[in-house]
Amino acid sequence: MPDIAIIGGGAAGFFAAVNAKITYPQTTVTIFEKSNRVLAKVLISGGGRCNLTNSFAQVKDLKHVYPRGDKLIKRLFKVFNHHDTYRWFEEQGVPLVTQDDECIFPKSQRATSIADCLIRKALQSGVKIRTGYTLERLTPLPDSRIKATFRSGTTAVFNKVIIATGGSPRAEKLSYLADLGHTIVAPVPSLFTFEVREPLFRALMGTVTDPVTLSIPTTKHRSTGALLITHWGMSGPATLKLSSYAARYINEQHYCFNVAVNWLNETNAETIRERLLTLAATHPKKQLNSIRPDNLSASLAVSLAESIARQRKTMG
Ligand SMILES: Cc1cc2nc3c(=O)[nH]c(=O)nc-3n(C[C@H](O)[C@H](O)[C@H](O)COP(=O)(O)OP(=O)(O)OC[C@H]3O[C@@H](n4cnc5c(N)ncnc54)[C@H](O)[C@@H]3O)c2cc1C
Repeated sequence: MPDIAIIGGGAAGFFAAVNAKITYPQTTVTIFEKSNRVLAKVLISGGGRCNLTNSFAQVKDLKHVYPRGDKLIKRLFKVFNHHDTYRWFEEQGVPLVTQDDECIFPKSQRATSIADCLIRKALQSGVKIRTGYTLERLTPLPDSRIKATFRSGTTAVFNKVIIATGGSPRAEKLSYLADLGHTIVAPVPSLFTFEVREPLFRALMGTVTDPVTLSIPTTKHRSTGALLITHWGMSGPATLKLSSYAARYINEQHYCFNVAVNWLNETNAETIRERLLTLAATHPKKQLNSIRPDNLSASLAVSLAESIARQRKTMG
């Protein structure tokens, strides 16, 4: 039976290896991992608790949670979805819990439960695990097998090779795939915070506003969620999401771009005006820091009002 090489000992590599071995029991399935430890990322995922899937109970459209990959995810979910993931881990003896926010974690609250389960299942199924093997080149042979060359100089021939090497910050690290004729799209950073040169922000360090809508003017890129103001600028889910949705655009702008913050998460200016006027009319004697739209902190409401007043003064 054909030999299968799995390159990369992460979650994807282990899951592929286990399923390949179960589907083709006579095959030799070997995981080749470049570092000296497997599943390193699983162990740090979810803050060490491993948020392994989601119930999707609050997701109406996959486009909202996978803005660049919803079609692919829909296709993949037809083969193996979040229910299958849940069932698979519970069948391996790993009890899971669904949090109020629909995120699913191991009941133990430890990522090691997930890593141990994958390693146990791989070894029980007969998968071989080799660490310290960095794949450098793949050479197709005339008999349609593939020769793998590792950094150490070791070579081996396989009938099938599954690449599960995760993300790579540099395109040249994937040259072994380009050599096979694959097109490599240059990777760009994603999921980062923004440095903001706005004095208003410096004074509001630590303020959380939830929800806000962030957008990049003149583009369709926007995100909604909590915004955390830090000593360097903006962080929190809304910022991280926008950095991911607009990753390529931001890269093209050389990381210098404008961000608009919709603090009240309302797009209709007239509705905002009415909301503020009603608030003022119902509390005519109160100070601005004690009557304000619910999602704004007192310091933010006052800072925004002062900033608007300053701008109006400058404009005459
Ligand atoms: C801090 C943090 C928290 C996260 N939290 C969560 C979470 O809670 N829930 C969630 O779903 N996701 C989370 N993620 C994302 C998740 O960890 C990854 O999406 C997932 O681990 C990717 O698995 P993978 O197997 O595709 O890749 P990886 O885990 O990156 O595994 C790829 C493996 O391939 C090896 N490799 C690379 N190149 C070669 C080569 N040439 N030869 C041999 N081996 C090679 C690497 O050393 C690595 O071990 C988190 C990520 C981070 C960084």
